[in-house]
Amino acid sequence: MQLSPKYTLNNGVGIDVLGYGVYKVPAEDCANLVATALDSGYRTVDTAALYGNEEGVGTAIGNAVAAGTPREELFVTSKVWNTDQGYDATLAAFDASMERLGLDYLDMYLIHWPCPARELFIPTYKALEMLYREGRVRAIGVSNFEAPHLHELLAATDVVPAVNQIELHPWLAQTELRAVHAGLGIATQAWSPLARGAILNDPVLLELAARQGRSVAQIVLRWHVQSGHLVIPKASSAERIAANLAVFDFSVSETEMAAIDALDRGQRSGSHPNEVN
Ligand code: NDP
Repeated sequence: MQLSPKYTLNNGVGIDVLGYGVYKVPAEDCANLVATALDSGYRTVDTAALYGNEEGVGTAIGNAVAAGTPREELFVTSKVWNTDQGYDATLAAFDASMERLGLDYLDMYLIHWPCPARELFIPTYKALEMLYREGRVRAIGVSNFEAPHLHELLAATDVVPAVNQIELHPWLAQTELRAVHAGLGIATQAWSPLARGAILNDPVLLELAARQGRSVAQIVLRWHVQSGHLVIPKASSAERIAANLAVFDFSVSETEMAAIDALDRGQRSGSHPNEVN
C-alpha cells in the first residue's frame, strides 16, 4: 500500500503531504468514503464544521483504530466556522466538533476564513492557542489568510500558524503569498488543488499527461508535491481516491514544471478571502 510521505510542521508535528479532503462529501457517504481513503493508504483527512460530515469522519477514524491502525498514524484537521469566531464561541465550537468527531484530541484546528469585517480572528486564534497549550490539538493554523491578515495575527499572538490552507492550483499559483509563508515558516496547504475538477480539461495538462501516461489529476497533484505544497484532493470513487495518492512513483521534469507554472492566470474557483465574512 502506497502511503504519502510526511512533512514536518513548524512545531515538529508530522502531517501527510497528501491527504483526503471531504468538502461536499454528503454526511451519509462520508464514513464509507473516508474508510475507502484509509484503505487506499491515506492517513490525513481534512474536514470542517461547515461540511456537516465530521461524524462520518469520526466513525471511519474510530473504526480504523478499532481495527488496529494506531491513532498516532492518523491526522484529522477540522476548522472553526465564521459564525463561531470569537474567543468563547470558538472554544464551544471546538467542543462541538470534538463531540461529533468522537476523538480524544484533534491533530490540527484552523480558522476557516479570516472574515476581516468581523474583526474577530485574533481572539479566535487566541482560543486556538489555549487549546494547543492544553494539548487538545497538536497543531493550529489558519485558512484563507492573505498576507496582511497573517501579519496582523502574528503581531498580536504567540504561536506561528503551522499552516495556511489556501486555494491553490496551476491556474492560481499564489506566488507572493507562498513566499510570505516561506519567510514565516508556515506550510502552504492547497485547497481545491484540482480547481474543483475544472483544470482537468486544460489542453497543456492533457498533453503532459498523455506524454507521461498519467491522468491530468496525477500530473497536477505531482506538480503540487514538487512545488512543496501540502495537498488535500477530494474524490468520490474508490478508483479516483486511490489514483490521486499514486503520485509518488514518478516525477515531472523541470521543463514540465515550468510549463505548468506558466498556466497561472489568477483564476479562483472559490471566493476571495476579503469577500467572505
Ligand atoms: P478539488 O480540487 O479537490 O476537486 C474535487 C473535484 O475533482 C471533484 O469534483 C472530484 O470529482 C474531481 N476529481 C478528483 N479527483 C479526480 C480524478 N482523479 N479524476 C477526475 N476528477 C477528479 O476540490 P475541493 O474543493 O474538494 O478541494 C479539496 C479539499 O480542500 C476539500 O474537500 C476540502 O477538504 C478543502 N477545501 C477547503 C476550503 C477552505 O476554505 N479551507 C475550501 C474548499 C475546499 P468526484 O468527487 O466526482 O470524484
